[in-house]
Amino acid sequence: MPGIATNLATIRTRMHEAALRVGRDPATVRLVAVSKTQPATAIRTAHTTGQLLFGESRVQEARQKRDALQELPLQWHLIGPLQRNKVKMAVTLFDLIESVDSLALAEEIQRRVSTPLPILVQINIGGEAQKHGLAPAEAEHVIRAMAQLPGIQVRGLMTIPPWNEDPEASRPHFRALATLARHLAQQAIPGVTMAELSMGMSQDYTVAIEEGATLVRIGTALFGER
Ligand SMILES: *Cc1c(COP(=O)(O)O)cnc(C)c1O
Repeated sequence: MPGIATNLATIRTRMHEAALRVGRDPATVRLVAVSKTQPATAIRTAHTTGQLLFGESRVQEARQKRDALQELPLQWHLIGPLQRNKVKMAVTLFDLIESVDSLALAEEIQRRVSTPLPILVQINIGGEAQKHGLAPAEAEHVIRAMAQLPGIQVRGLMTIPPWNEDPEASRPHFRALATLARHLAQQAIPGVTMAELSMGMSQDYTVAIEEGATLVRIGTALFGER
């Protein structure tokens, strides 16, 4: 799959340039290669070019790929909605869960982990009715409650802004997430950091990096259409 190696090189260059444009250290931005629906062979190809961090949306699908790729030193992020009855399996598969959007889900994770698990709190930054994520106004209250759970470590925020074909349309949403993260960091909630801002996908990742993303989640631009 030569396309994957070429695409990765292009993405890494664009990420690097976006960081430099705003005076950020390119090393502070990581690529989450979103491999949902892609076969294990595609992940292997990406790994041969040095990609170690992958994102999956479904617990069962991630389990199959982890099994098939056991010998590779990969890291996995869960980026899709997590049902309560999948938490037990999810905590054994993922290094970080990006899509925690309720205290109830955080409590379920707390019940299932043996060592503390890093999470991101998903924010519905555009206030869309059908989207997952906490309302920005709820975030501080919920994160303060999550901070009481020793089994989880809040490391930052994640968002999926309203879809728009113009990447510039995402910019105010990314900026709003960065502003919210800064506000939360200022509260200095014990045990909580705002080290990670997961925002930006194939369409708008360079804009996200300009607005402070530390994780960009890229599927289509890397592996092709799903
Ligand atoms: C699928 C998915 C992505 C990747 O989307 P692309 O447009 O294919 O880059 C990123 N984040 C989440 C949460 C996703 O579900």
